Amino acid sequence: MSITGLPPYDSTNIFARILRGEIPSRKVHEDDYALAFHDINPQAPVHVLVIPKGPYVSHADFSVNATEAEIAGFWRAVGKVARDLGLESSGYRILSNMGADGGQEVPHFHVHIFGGRRLGRMVPRPEA
Ligand code: AMP
Repeated sequence: MSITGLPPYDSTNIFARILRGEIPSRKVHEDDYALAFHDINPQAPVHVLVIPKGPYVSHADFSVNATEAEIAGFWRAVGKVARDLGLESSGYRILSNMGADGGQEVPHFHVHIFGGRRLGRMVPRPEA
């Protein structure tokens, strides 16, 4: 199914290049369905990205076109990464930006995991 709001998958995007090993990442987890690595510009003491191995532009694309195994495998990996990072007792936030209003910069579906401090409001208020 085609996805409105974003271009087709671009295999030159930076996360595709990380998946192919063409550029380095600080990897924290890898399995058949997901790769997790530290964000290069962390917004919290812990800021890790989890990406599916398949070529999905966004959550909109992934939620429609990924297989049941890919969806289950990916979300289990998100939970495992947060658990392995030691975030469960203090808590954490997961977030996925989608499209223009979501502020998505990299067109390969990814989930941010933030933790290590009180994270404040869920969505910032608009600038006055
Ligand atoms: P988003 O705005 O949701 O698309 O987030 C993209 C994220 O990717 C940002 O938080 C960037 O800091 C992060 N990022 C971009 N390039 C890299 C890279 N080479 N390694 C790790 N994180 C990156």
